[in-house]
Amino acid sequence: MSNLRFEVVAEAFRKRPLEVPAPKERPSEYFAKYVFNRQKMYRYLSADVYNKLIDVIDNGCRLDRSIADAVASGMKQWAEENGVTHYTHWFQPLTEGTAEKHDAFVEHDGKGGMIEEFSGKLLVQQEPDASSFPNGGIRNTFEARGYSAWDPTSPVFIIDDTLCIPTIFISYTGEALDYKAPLLKSLHAVGEAATSVCHYFDKKVKKVQTNLGWEQEYFLVDESLYSARPDLMLTGRTLMGHDSAKNQQMDDHYFGTIPERVQAFMKDLETQALELGIPCKTRHNEVAPGQFELAPIYEECNLAVDHNMLLMSLMKKVAHKHGFRVLLHEKPFDGINGSGKHNNWSLVTDTGVLLHAAGKTSEANLRFVVFIVETLMGVYKHNGLLKASIMTATNAHRLGGNEAPPAIISSFLGRQLTDLLDHIEKADKDELFNVEGKTGMKLDIPEIPELMIDNTDRNRTSPFAFTGNRFEFRAVGSEANCASALIVLNTAVAEALTDFKQRVDALIAGGEDQTSAIIDVIREDIRRCRPIRFDGNGYSDEWKAEAARRGLDCEASCPLCFDRYLDPESVRMFEKMNVMSRSELEARNEVKWETYTKKIQIEARVMGDLSMNHIIPVATHYQSRLAKNVGGMFNIFGKEEGKALTARNVKIIREIAERTQRIETGIEELVNARKVANRIQNEREKALAYHDTVAPKMDAVRYQIDKLELIVADELWTLPKYRELLFIR
Ligand code: ADP
Ligand code: MG
Repeated sequence: MSNLRFEVVAEAFRKRPLEVPAPKERPSEYFAKYVFNRQKMYRYLSADVYNKLIDVIDNGCRLDRSIADAVASGMKQWAEENGVTHYTHWFQPLTEGTAEKHDAFVEHDGKGGMIEEFSGKLLVQQEPDASSFPNGGIRNTFEARGYSAWDPTSPVFIIDDTLCIPTIFISYTGEALDYKAPLLKSLHAVGEAATSVCHYFDKKVKKVQTNLGWEQEYFLVDESLYSARPDLMLTGRTLMGHDSAKNQQMDDHYFGTIPERVQAFMKDLETQALELGIPCKTRHNEVAPGQFELAPIYEECNLAVDHNMLLMSLMKKVAHKHGFRVLLHEKPFDGINGSGKHNNWSLVTDTGVLLHAAGKTSEANLRFVVFIVETLMGVYKHNGLLKASIMTATNAHRLGGNEAPPAIISSFLGRQLTDLLDHIEKADKDELFNVEGKTGMKLDIPEIPELMIDNTDRNRTSPFAFTGNRFEFRAVGSEANCASALIVLNTAVAEALTDFKQRVDALIAGGEDQTSAIIDVIREDIRRCRPIRFDGNGYSDEWKAEAARRGLDCEASCPLCFDRYLDPESVRMFEKMNVMSRSELEARNEVKWETYTKKIQIEARVMGDLSMNHIIPVATHYQSRLAKNVGGMFNIFGKEEGKALTARNVKIIREIAERTQRIETGIEELVNARKVANRIQNEREKALAYHDTVAPKMDAVRYQIDKLELIVADELWTLPKYRELLFIR
């Protein structure tokens, strides 16, 4: 019996690092080479058009359609100088990736020939067929049109021969069918709300911007091995596979030496990412073998999200070139760490930062406290919704495991900030501040030491940790579009800030001094959001019990978590902040439930196929071999002695019989559970059935398969094992 597995293992072993010629220039010179950034706008557009476009980008002014043609023609000129022949509207539908439809620059010239053309109309708007993308029933069959519309705040870029134009994607009737449209609205909401709160402290603040720095974790697997694992290929994770004797227990991978082949991949990836304007900064090994991380410098949130989407697709392409496959699934391997994507989130004004602790004046410190507390208020009030925003069929494997934040949202602030909030909440108000002549209030807010900026007692178990000048949302999955989490976070904070301002204004209208009013409201809010603050070990069982007592959302079932999107307070928040309507939320939930069901459905099918076509045939083959041996032994040694000498083989023959039997019954039950679930029409109910009755049955089958892997002869086993998949030479 020839074994494909041995062949692919040998092939993987033979691979050498790809020669990647080092770029001749320094990164600063090729950075954003393929991006139509300001520098290029300035070169390719007239001064007037340039100024108008910058006004659109910086100040959110409406795009004057009359400049669209000029912008398009400047873009086209630059693109053609870079060998570009096609353009595409690049958008983020409610799937995992991005979508694009390429059109050539050509048009009839009316004289029987062709000319290259790209007009403002084509830049600004297109009509892809919305029915081919998940839309949750928003699109009626008679009106399948969807619009993609240019987002001028994210610069166009070139990939190969194509000019890519970042766009939003909405239905004919204006509902969002993507991540970008609501993200932009949420950014607008939090920007406006934060700006007006800033005006208490500084009238000169013109706008508040949200920043995002993501940290992308991923696994690499040799492509030959990958191709021999149908489960990896079809579901992104291994549905079976016994632990490798050695995996991460020696803690020798994290920050260890990067394998040469991987190093070559990383260099290649980073060069290409830098050329696309992604400011790559950090690369290192992660905790699990075969796991790595890439983090750029933070950027404006919308741009950072686009860059993350772009990077994920670039990774896949570059990995392929280096003979790897990149696994973005949150939990590709059982028993070792999964992958997340920390989202570092902060607010800055055009005059300074907001979440930075070391303010020079008590005013600055009070402003800092206001933004910290109102962020916590938003997170507290919508903690269940925030969890729903990061929940997927794939990330659910990671949350609650002992390596990732639990399926409960809480926030770590660290000792100093906790003490500060306690002081403000508990101190006698007269003690807290006193009037100092005309300058107004002198706040007795203890000075916040610089030290906190490096918040060294970082709590790794907290899903939403304050780290000195930003919050780090750690529960986001590696495969996710960050926008899903950020839409909720931005909107929740926008609502909290708006609510805060309303209450402060009411007190001021009643005759209270502004600072005193702010302190009253902030003291109240520190008390109200206390349950979200938790500095202890988020992985412990005590915390789960404690969180339930505090009334935090502890639901762990993925399809049930999605219900939070339709809670009255969620709908109210999204509508009030003008981010999404009820019908949009309903439609998106349909998509979420449907996607959940499909993922589990595919996994269950693959599990059935592999059990029947790989596992059982291989195990029975080995069993027959053993049986033949037992028969032969009996012939040679006679019944008595033969029995004694073949006891081990007989034991294994029996074990194989029992385990294959259990697998068969397990698969049968799995198929039946699926049949029952498939008859359910309602998407929510169907997803619940898949969660409650289908998914758990896969665990039982896997258990038997992994046991078989241990007893069947290695040479017969067809699927690459964990010990082979996980270690890159
Ligand atoms: P760690 O792994 O220790 O959390 P990294 O240096 O890997 O830290 O990543 C930190 C991320 O946070 C980077 O993307 C960085 O640019 C980003 N970041 C730093 N400061 C801010 C900030 N004020 N706002 C948003 N993101 C930030
Ligand atoms: Mg981090």
